[in-house]
Order: sequence, then structure tokens, then C-alpha cells
Amino acid sequence: MSQSEFRSRARRLVEARRLVVKVGSALLVDAKTGRVNRAWLESLVDDLARAHGRGQQVIVVSSGAIAMGRRHLGLPAGRLRLEESQAAAAVGQIRLAHAWKELFDERGIATAQVLLTLEDTEERRRYLNARSTLDTLLGLKAIPVINENDTVATAEIRYGDNDRLAARVAQMASAECLVLLSDIDGLYTADPGKDPDAQFIPEVREISGAVEAMASGPTSGVGSGGMTTKVAAARIAVGAGCSLCIASGRRPNPLRAVEEGTRCTWFLPGRGRTPHKVRKQWIAGTLKPAGRLTVDAGCAQALTRGKSLLPAGVAKLAGRFERGDTVSVLDPEGREIARGLVAYSAEDAARIIGRRSSEIEALLGWRGREELIHRDDLVMLRDFEA
Ligand code: GLU
Repeated sequence: MSQSEFRSRARRLVEARRLVVKVGSALLVDAKTGRVNRAWLESLVDDLARAHGRGQQVIVVSSGAIAMGRRHLGLPAGRLRLEESQAAAAVGQIRLAHAWKELFDERGIATAQVLLTLEDTEERRRYLNARSTLDTLLGLKAIPVINENDTVATAEIRYGDNDRLAARVAQMASAECLVLLSDIDGLYTADPGKDPDAQFIPEVREISGAVEAMASGPTSGVGSGGMTTKVAAARIAVGAGCSLCIASGRRPNPLRAVEEGTRCTWFLPGRGRTPHKVRKQWIAGTLKPAGRLTVDAGCAQALTRGKSLLPAGVAKLAGRFERGDTVSVLDPEGREIARGLVAYSAEDAARIIGRRSSEIEALLGWRGREELIHRDDLVMLRDFEA
């Protein structure tokens, strides 16, 4: 594949509304000193600031806490016990976050630290909370720098590798593009370090067993992910309608290099599978909505015009639901016209339906969302086969 073909594929990176970039420990942290590779990180932050400057919403997933902390604590080389890794992460994370913050500060960009565990991205309510925090941060033009919350994650609730975490973050944020910066420039038919006949694969449109077989174990001693976790991440990302690129971080300005057509491996979702569509299909396809909201005629009309569902338009509700559950929206004749993720529990919703959004705070005693179902969380069923 030629440079110009790579460049044209890289439009996905340049044009993504939301872009997630994952940086591995081996790139960020000098294996000998345990310090940040500052000059390299500066060049990456320049690339990220450029994406931010052209209006893209950028999320960073950064490893490196354990690698930084272990040196600082004087822990021995080799495999650490879980508690030691957690202690190292606690020491390293503060330094890691500081390095990102300093460099973004210099470029006038606000940085936010977000620490997540497997449960936060899988358990529905926590997932929705994390999603709305990310939405808010991105709306305010901050760049979230995310890592796994290693200090609280026990073996069962750990990702253990940030490739998969990055893919879950991309899915959660409905990102269009995820770049995994790695110490290798993409996927090969075999490990190129061991097999001189290994062929480079520029593009994967279907993650078959053969593709999985090409990915072998870890390739470096610092991070925890190898090609296997990258392909697993690609499966998650592509399933969510997000394009994923594995690119080399072993050069300055690695994102700019991809944009300019340097070779890398792209995993692409099927045609027309956008994060937006995948998410709406997921909402529409809920097997058993937890409750029902019956709306008045004016509100039903407004929904068909793409508006959010406000408490004022709801005449009655039924069912026991929690914030974040899927509920059905019925028109005055009782026909189901929409489904959506509700922003209030049934108990709280009962107190605010029929009332103006400006009254919510007085009615509940706290300031929640103006919408009962935000339009991003709402699907009109005539647009979908539920
Ligand atoms: N969360 C770990 C850290 O920051 C890294 C996991 C990984 O390398 O993928 O040290």
C-alpha cells in the first residue's frame, strides 16, 4: 500500500469528531531510569494539541503509572505482586498525571485525570455516569487523560491492559477513531522480530481466526499488552463502529506521521456502521424496557422532530426503573413510539413529570439534568426495527 493510500485512510483520524489515543508504558517511560521520555511526550502533546485546535474532541488513555512508580519505590525488576503493582501505580499515577498536565498547560489546554476500572465501563449505571462526565469534560474542551484505577482494582475487576480499556473508552464515548501507539508499527502475519518472512497487514476488515492467530504475545518488557490485546481491543472498537489504528510510537510526532501517510494497520468497521448508529441500535434493541412514560401529543410531536424528552411533556409513568435504565415512550394512544435511557429513577421522575425543567431543583432538592431522556439517548422506533 502506498503512502498516499495510507494518507487517505488517515482521514479517519483527522476527521473523527472524537478521537481516543492510547499510549503504552514502553513509549512513555524510560525503562532504565523510570522517568518520562519528555522530549517524545512533548512531540505527542503537540500532535494532540493540533487535533484539539482543529476542533476534535480528544481523549488520552495513558499507561505508565506502574512503570514510573516501581522505580521510584525501588521495587525490583521482574513481575510484581498485585499489591506491589497497586502501590507502584499509586506513586506513579501522580507523576504521570503531572507530566501530562504540565505539557497541556503550556499549550493552554485543560487536562482532567479520570481513573476507571472494568466495572465502570461494564456496569450500566457507572458506565453512564462515566460517559456523561466525559461528555461534559469534552464539551468544556478539556482533554481527559484516562488510566485504569490500579490501586482499587483487584484481580477480578482489572483490565490489566490499557488496550482493552482504551477500546471500552472509545465505545463509551462513541468515538469514531482510536489510535493505539505501540512499539511496533502494526499487525504482521507473524512476529517480525522472530520471523523474517513476516508480512505487514495494512488493513483488516474482518477479525477472523486467522487474524487472531497472527497476533502473538507481548513484544516488550515494560507494558502489559501485546498484539493479542490489541486485536481484542480492535474487536471491541470495530463492533462499536469505531475505526482502530495500530501505529508506531517509536518516533517523534507519531500522530502527525500517521496523518502524513506513514504505514500502520487499520481495523475498519463495516460500511455505514457509525458509533451513533450502533448505540441507537443497542438502545432500540433492549429486550425488556424497565418502564413506560406516556407523553402528551405536543411532546410526541416534538420527539419526532428530534427533541429531547422533557419532564413537562410526560403525563404518566409506570414501572420500576433506575437512572440509566431503558424505558419505553408511549404516545397518548398508548403506542410505543420511542425508547431511551432515562436520566431519573422512577421515584424521582414521578415527582417531576408534568413540571417545567426549571422546577426540578426545587422539587428534588438537587440539580439534575433538564431532560428526562436526552436526545442522544433516545431512539424513535420508526427509524429502527426494535
Ligand atoms: N495501568 C497500567 C499503568 O499505568 C498499565 C497497563 C498497561 O500497560 O496496559 O501502569
